[in-house]
Amino acid sequence: MTVRLAHVGIAVRSIVDARIFYEEVLGLEVEKVEEIESEGVKVALLPFPGGEIELLEPLAEDTPVGRFLERHGEGLHHLSFEVPDVHRSIVAGIEHGVETVGEAPRKGAEGREIAFFHPLFTHGVLVEVCGKAMEGARHRPGDETG
Ligand code: ZN
Repeated sequence: MTVRLAHVGIAVRSIVDARIFYEEVLGLEVEKVEEIESEGVKVALLPFPGGEIELLEPLAEDTPVGRFLERHGEGLHHLSFEVPDVHRSIVAGIEHGVETVGEAPRKGAEGREIAFFHPLFTHGVLVEVCGKAMEGARHRPGDETG
């Protein structure tokens, strides 16, 4: 069973502003910007070997990321781990009294199944588990149809 860090989610007020640091100072590149209406969030993915930075900008104040920004300001929002079987992780969570946030599983970026474990049960960090990207859902540079 392989688990890997999929991405580090960072709540920001503006992707346009935040990407400057990650691109100009760290040398990463925004591969893709996607709006996920159901989560009320705009997401920018900046991949690097071994993971990605996921910048999260709320589409409105009354959304999970909007409320996070109001309470905590910008900063680390969640860690995401790719797991072989999201359903199995949810069941294991239930067995150990670890509650998810909202509906689980649900659809995230790139058609992945995702679930969030509440920070109350994970020692203070919102933890996302995600399945593999749907075949063909991932954008490849030069492939403007995908
Ligand atoms: Zn995430």
